[in-house]
Amino acid sequence: MTDVLNVRQVTKRYGGNQALKGVDLSVKPGSCFGLLGPNGAGKSTMMKLLTGIIEADQGAIELFGLDIRKELPSIHRLIGYVPQDITLYEKLSGRQNLTFFGQMHGIRGSELKKRIAHVLEAVGLTDRAGDEVSSYSGGMKRRINIAAALLHQPKLVIMDEPTVGIDPQSRNHIFEMIKKLQREGVTVLYSTHYMEEVEALCDEVAIIDHGRIVSQGGLRELLELHAVKAVYAEAAGVSEPPALKGIIKATPEGSGWVLECDNPLAVLSALSAKWAGEGVAVKALELMQPSLDNVFLKLTGTTLRD
Ligand code: ADP
Repeated sequence: MTDVLNVRQVTKRYGGNQALKGVDLSVKPGSCFGLLGPNGAGKSTMMKLLTGIIEADQGAIELFGLDIRKELPSIHRLIGYVPQDITLYEKLSGRQNLTFFGQMHGIRGSELKKRIAHVLEAVGLTDRAGDEVSSYSGGMKRRINIAAALLHQPKLVIMDEPTVGIDPQSRNHIFEMIKKLQREGVTVLYSTHYMEEVEALCDEVAIIDHGRIVSQGGLRELLELHAVKAVYAEAAGVSEPPALKGIIKATPEGSGWVLECDNPLAVLSALSAKWAGEGVAVKALELMQPSLDNVFLKLTGTTLRD
């Protein structure tokens, strides 16, 4: 089956800043694909390239087998894009905004009414649809923005950090909506710097850092392949990482350390005995579960939260 998205060796530079340094990506139909990386990694740049807002310096981008340089209008009929910046008319109601965006896509009359009702339901805003957008919370505005991107029933929905700065209720609505889209066979490409979101939503993931994809694959596969074995340790008044046999590397995290090791259980019990013997007040001593944060640490040498 043709990939929904195929990106090969894409580069993008802003003046002296090389934002993307040869990115390859492929997204299979029906997946929820997470593009995960810290701020400044290049996620928005990638998303803007995929929607034709900006052009790549080098490399090739195909969506649904169509070359973005030659067939952008056809691609636009197949994709919905939710930018980070909210683009709505504040003085119009949610429904009036959706009517405007629907008409831009050439949808009219009873078909438009039906689709607006459907997308409002999907984002959980049917009750507030008649109110002026200026009275909405940031999360509600974001949800209307998402609804607008769904009106023409795209086969791929591209969302650029849709949960940044919004309330938990809106976040839950967005998550439910993404799961529903997936059940309907829509492919979702989702960028975020929250690894918990990728773990909860996505089946495929690409980790991006400093303009490069450091790893890409199934979520389970990445966790099994790359998650470091580690212990997290933190104690009051201890300013140096503990020196113990079996610790390969100590990386500061919060007020403690991530201690990488081959045998975390052995390190955990040795450190517990050491600190008990020294009368140290232990604040945290625990096995680290495989997580994307952990994978990121192994692949880049820093934690994603940095
Ligand atoms: P992310 O979405 O992962 O936070 P971006 O794609 O926004 O990352 O940014 C990647 C890099 O490109 C950053 O170093 C950022 O400062 C830079 N950048 C992004 N947009 C512009 C722009 N319009 N002009 C100059 N530099 C930019």
